[in-house]
Amino acid sequence: MSPLGLFGGTFDPIHNGHLRMAVEVMEAFALDTLTLLPNKVPPHRPQPLASAPQRLAMTQRAADGVKGLVVDDRELRRASDSYTVDTLEELAAEHPGRPLLFIMGMDSLLSFTSWHSWPRILELASLAVCCRPGHQLDPDQLDPALVAKLSQAPITGPGQICALTTTELAISATDIRARIKQGRRLDFLVPKAVEDYIRAQGLYRPHQAS
Ligand code: ATP
Repeated sequence: MSPLGLFGGTFDPIHNGHLRMAVEVMEAFALDTLTLLPNKVPPHRPQPLASAPQRLAMTQRAADGVKGLVVDDRELRRASDSYTVDTLEELAAEHPGRPLLFIMGMDSLLSFTSWHSWPRILELASLAVCCRPGHQLDPDQLDPALVAKLSQAPITGPGQICALTTTELAISATDIRARIKQGRRLDFLVPKAVEDYIRAQGLYRPHQAS
């Protein structure tokens, strides 16, 4: 049974770095679909500049027309605080026996042991970790519990951490927000439909804090 591919992010905004890694993970694991999960950010963390409905709208526009990409807004709909582990618990119950594959960039793996209930995440899912410029996999810097789980595809069950060789794209949401503030162009950093939405909504303009 092919794994259920899941890609959580703040997506403030979603950009071509996210989309390219989604496509490469679908190819690497022969996934028919991959689900984008815009995160609800807990109140004690810095809040995204775009609202939850705006981040969802951008994510939906980005997924439109990309073969296999779907969007799940369950985290944004949750009334309580929402963490990745809660979402994985729900999805594991909804898809008994199906391996869960959670996608992230290398920067996220390097800080993974700060995630809420990270050991439980690895009981529920395997991780597909994509290259990100400026963030190298150095086993000496990684928690030994994570080093022990580094392995190759295919996924045979939960708890595997697969570091993939993916196209490195130095694109970040922080940089995109800064470019908008400076009145610069976004071509080839975000899909046209996402740029149009950002402009129509006046998102990330100078009057907003960064
Ligand atoms: P910000 O600049 O606001 O921190 P971001 O660009 O990192 O945002 P997120 O929505 O926070 O975007 O990222 C969601 C996931 O996508 C994270 O696991 C992150 O590591 C990964 N990711 C984002 N951009 C890239 C990229 N260019 N290459 C590889 N992974 C990426």
